[in-house]
Amino acid sequence: MNPCDKPGLTPVNEAIEYLLSQVASVTEGELCPLEHACGRVLAEDVISPVNVPPADNSAMDGYAVNPGKLESGRTPIGLFRQRGIVLAGEVFEGVLSAGECVRIMTGAVVPDGAKLVVMQENTEVVDAGVRVDNPESLRDGDNIRRAGEDIRHGDVVLNAGRRLTPADCGLLASIGIADVLVVRPLRVSLLTTGDELIAPGNDLPAGKIYESNSFVLRPVLNRLGAEVSLVTAVSDTLEAIQEALETAAADADIIITSGGVSVGEADFTRTAVEALGQLDLWKLAMKPGKPLAFGRIGKTLFLGLPGNPVSALVTLHQIGLPVLRSLAGEIVTPPIRIPAIASERLKKRPGRADYQRGVAELHDAGQWQVRSTGLQGSGILSSVSKANCFIVLEQERGHVEPGETVMVEMFDQWLS
Ligand code: AMP
Ligand code: MG
Repeated sequence: MNPCDKPGLTPVNEAIEYLLSQVASVTEGELCPLEHACGRVLAEDVISPVNVPPADNSAMDGYAVNPGKLESGRTPIGLFRQRGIVLAGEVFEGVLSAGECVRIMTGAVVPDGAKLVVMQENTEVVDAGVRVDNPESLRDGDNIRRAGEDIRHGDVVLNAGRRLTPADCGLLASIGIADVLVVRPLRVSLLTTGDELIAPGNDLPAGKIYESNSFVLRPVLNRLGAEVSLVTAVSDTLEAIQEALETAAADADIIITSGGVSVGEADFTRTAVEALGQLDLWKLAMKPGKPLAFGRIGKTLFLGLPGNPVSALVTLHQIGLPVLRSLAGEIVTPPIRIPAIASERLKKRPGRADYQRGVAELHDAGQWQVRSTGLQGSGILSSVSKANCFIVLEQERGHVEPGETVMVEMFDQWLS
């Protein structure tokens, strides 16, 4: 059963789980040069064609030595005959016998026969050769980075659905990959609705407000790598909204709207989507952001966010992002939450999960503490701007007294 048909408010987790079950990920891939691949979603597993490092090499500047028998019957030698020098990028031709060494630089391939590298600081060049301090302390393999110790030939290095990080891109470079198959960018159509909305930069007539939601929502979508087409301030008439939705549905994977999904006089978004396709209206057990609409127009998904700026932001972040990330082919991981001590009283009524905006700080004894950013109304956008985290208060919880433990979700890469 669709959880939004059940009486009462739907818990956030249930809503996310159901919505994710309704999303079929975009699978079309495209080749992307590695230098532009950070932040893109892998369309297939990547298997390493090589070992990394490709050969045993030195982790230090020093001497590669063959001290004779080491592992059994230890016969360490203190004085070595130097056979030559090997720099990074070179290979020493020849095999070291017991008592021989080669001067070696970091990253150079360890010569055959060498059992370990002694760091330069523990050696001294004397007339007879190279003397090693404390030869008893030598251990097989010291200061050698082994071939394949990072990645082995044939290993799955990264899985399909991974959103590439800078380190991932370095990893792909280290196995020689220049182009990666990634999921094509999502096409998102973003509509803001409301006759009261005026674009910033214009005079503000009586009764109007500046349109701000698109300035919050679009950057989040951009960070997802989506191609966003934006129509702001669609008029509050059924015809205008229907027309905007029809145009948007023609070439978007998903339409996201803000406003017009509550039960006010001019809330036509819901009616318009119902006329063109199919829609579920959710009453989420979350604050801010109770009303949320989800549906489809033809093949295009529809997500209707509330109009209030904080509600729009919080529902996009908590509910919209899992949907969008899954649509973009990404394997979605739940947000990371940490316990923190409330340093002041937090007002809360049981019944809905609260996403209050807070400032969390790590205190001396390794304890996180969190305070509120002040007024928490769904129109108070400064409460988010001042915050570095959500204080996530469980649905059935009441007021929080100072000293109580609460869960905190630090703003992630989508909001920071
Ligand atoms: P609605 O859901 O359309 O009733 O809007 C709820 C509240 O959010 C109203 O106070 C609207 O004026 C406000 N609002 C809606 N859309 C925007 C927007 N794009 N920018 C700023 N405020 C908005
Ligand atoms: Mg409105």
